Amino acid sequence: MSLAELLPAVVKTSYLVAATLFLLGLQRMASPLTARSGIRWAGAGMLIATFATLFLPGLHNVTLMLLAIVIGAGLAWVWGRQVPITDMPQMVALFNGMGGGSAAAIGAVELLRYSELFGRDTSNWSASAIADLAARQPGKVTLALAVVGALIGAVSLTGSIIAWAKLDGRMDKRYTFPGQQWLNAAVALVAVALGAWAVWSLQMPTVIAFFLAALALGVLMTLPIGGADMPVVISLYNAFTGLAVAFEGYVLGNEALIIAGMMVGAAGILLTRLMAKAMNRSIKNVLFSNFGGGGASAQEISGSQKPIEAGDVAAMMAYAERVVIVPGYGMAVAQAQHKIWELTQRLLDRGVKVKFAIHPVAGRMPGHMNVLLAEAGVPYDLIADMDDINPEFPNTDVSLVIGANDVVNPVAKTDPASPIYGMPILDVVSSKNVVVIKRGKGTGFAGIENALFYADNTRMLYGDGAEMASALVGELKALDGGGH
Ligand code: NDP
Repeated sequence: MSLAELLPAVVKTSYLVAATLFLLGLQRMASPLTARSGIRWAGAGMLIATFATLFLPGLHNVTLMLLAIVIGAGLAWVWGRQVPITDMPQMVALFNGMGGGSAAAIGAVELLRYSELFGRDTSNWSASAIADLAARQPGKVTLALAVVGALIGAVSLTGSIIAWAKLDGRMDKRYTFPGQQWLNAAVALVAVALGAWAVWSLQMPTVIAFFLAALALGVLMTLPIGGADMPVVISLYNAFTGLAVAFEGYVLGNEALIIAGMMVGAAGILLTRLMAKAMNRSIKNVLFSNFGGGGASAQEISGSQKPIEAGDVAAMMAYAERVVIVPGYGMAVAQAQHKIWELTQRLLDRGVKVKFAIHPVAGRMPGHMNVLLAEAGVPYDLIADMDDINPEFPNTDVSLVIGANDVVNPVAKTDPASPIYGMPILDVVSSKNVVVIKRGKGTGFAGIENALFYADNTRMLYGDGAEMASALVGELKALDGGGH
């Protein structure tokens, strides 16, 4: 058997190895302990799959492909190293959008190729030439899958770009206008109808119109979504990209794309369901009901914010029996996780029972806080989920909120006019004492006032998260008589 005959089998075997690595990598990502190696395993799988693809028989333009890979990988390498950890969610949104865009591009190339082949005037062709052409026409099912994949991928591309702009503060969190949902429904129908017509007719103008409608749909769908719904939308577009890749993998007959796409799609759907459950929202509501943008709250918040000094907070915690630490986006901005862990260790040494309370959408990406705490070395048995910790707040002497805002805002329970109404929150306000570390009076992602900061049992420790955590460590050291 010649090398050329062997190659397809070698490529397919490499795909099998890659798929196994994807699976094992994904499994390892389930625990923060093994997540880093999981990413490496899945990355190795992707390298093998990409490299193997270059040996597929009948491939053209290999030099161009290599050039594109080198440029793309180079840019991603430089950007990935430079991006600050707080901008990671935006980067993930953008990269995810590019995955959707690539899937849509595969669909576009296939459809345009066929429309070029079959949309030609064949009136003066010979019967045998027409028969030959007809024999090369792909099945309608394949074409329909190319259109479905392209539709989902295009929506994911433009939707993710809008999500990136919102997360990056370049766009209003929510953009609404009268009749928006009707317009969105009309554009969705037009995109589906054009897609069906493109499969049927394979005419180039129809294919182009279909893509324009699909791209517009992604923009229009994402414009009205904001605030508390962003995590659900981001994971939904993740799932969309995976599914689009899987569909286009089928069209190209490429097993590696089908497997990788299905895995991303399935994981994305599970994550979307988890996020929606955490936010007490159905996916239908997220997409079609204009919730969560940052409108005015109907309830006036009375009282004032009461400042406190680091020395007093340290003493409160040092003599407490139970302390719960609630991290949020501000801890990520301040990169305060290491100092917070040092603070926790000092409290544990004094016999204080300390736990961390994690809200599922704290920060700006799913699992954001868990990743930061794991990086700082916080053991998992100290970390509690919202449902487990909420009943414990009434028995908590001090809740230390660091850089969290929306996820501890009681108006989510009390004010039906609030844009975060209905979102489950960490019930910090029911603890005996609450201390909030934040720099000033800045609002959270949803852009609304927080009743917790004005509560009688709340004190505000104003300052940067890392600096305040350092100050608390210093005060505890002094209380311990300068030990360690
Ligand atoms: P928030 O965004 O609600 O609040 C963060 C707070 O941190 C701000 O009020 C800010 O106040 C404070 N802060 C900022 N920088 C610092 C600093 N250096 N030191 C100390 N404090 C700082 O955070 P939460 O984690 O409570 O909530 C997350 C929000 O993000 C939710 O609305 C969620 O829906 C949304 N979201 C979540 C995603 C996810 O997947 N997890 C994705 C997209 C959105 P100040 O300026 O006064 O310091």
